[in-house]
Amino acid sequence: MRIRFWGTRGSIPVPGRNTIEFGGNTTCLEITLQTGKRLIIDAGTGIRELGSELKREEGPTDLYLLITHIHWDHIIGFPFFEPLYDLSTRIRIDGYPTCMKGLRSTFDTRMGDGFFPIKFDDLRAEVQYLDRISKGEVEFEGVTVDRIPLQHPQGGYGFRFREDGKTLVFITDNELRSDAWTGRTLEEYVEFCTGADILIHDAQYLPSEINQREGWGHSDYEAAFMLAREAGVKKLVLFHHDPSRTDLDVAAIQEACREIAAQKNSYLMIEAARENSELLL
Ligand SMILES: [Zn+2]
Ligand SMILES: [Zn+2]
Repeated sequence: MRIRFWGTRGSIPVPGRNTIEFGGNTTCLEITLQTGKRLIIDAGTGIRELGSELKREEGPTDLYLLITHIHWDHIIGFPFFEPLYDLSTRIRIDGYPTCMKGLRSTFDTRMGDGFFPIKFDDLRAEVQYLDRISKGEVEFEGVTVDRIPLQHPQGGYGFRFREDGKTLVFITDNELRSDAWTGRTLEEYVEFCTGADILIHDAQYLPSEINQREGWGHSDYEAAFMLAREAGVKKLVLFHHDPSRTDLDVAAIQEACREIAAQKNSYLMIEAARENSELLL
């Protein structure tokens, strides 16, 4: 698997001189499988640039799009995904059960009073809703994908990808608390992440902020670290950076999380997700 970050930011895109290093676009990841097929997670504003890159390539676009949940920072880039306007494109969509409703709503409603001048039904690409992942583990092109419900307002899914003995877990917009407010236990997340080579997890807040953010559906970097350590993960990637953080702030979070690991004698590799960076697995 090759993982590329097209959007790492939470809540709202924040372009500008203070977000150049870690990025200002909202959630979008590209996973290139061994078959060469692409699996995209979420359609935040990062998907626009991915679409431009796909258009520059030879041949038709044929990919899977997995949606974690339909908060706007995870779907708002969808109408700006260029391959949607091409007859040769095929997109197979799956994810949280409300995903198609959310993606459609970025275009229009049946009343024609939508948010975008083009109607979803007028798209030229072949868009197919698979509706498989909500029923359990599935396989796409040789990669096994499973999901876990998120502790997040209106719900959502985290995903686990297994290909050729390697495991990637992607969990964003998730509030890790020992006193779980939606009935999920920390042990369930630990089990889901056990032995992962890479865990990409929500780390929107600082430990000093988290008590004022109870019920908002996000975690602090210390909670993300504790999950990764408990689960025996090899590498933790801090994700869904708060829109208020500058590059210096995100770098400081990365450093503070590494210090916690050092204090606890952990060899866990830790980094903050950077837009345009790649991970190889
Ligand atoms: Zn979000
Ligand atoms: Zn959300």
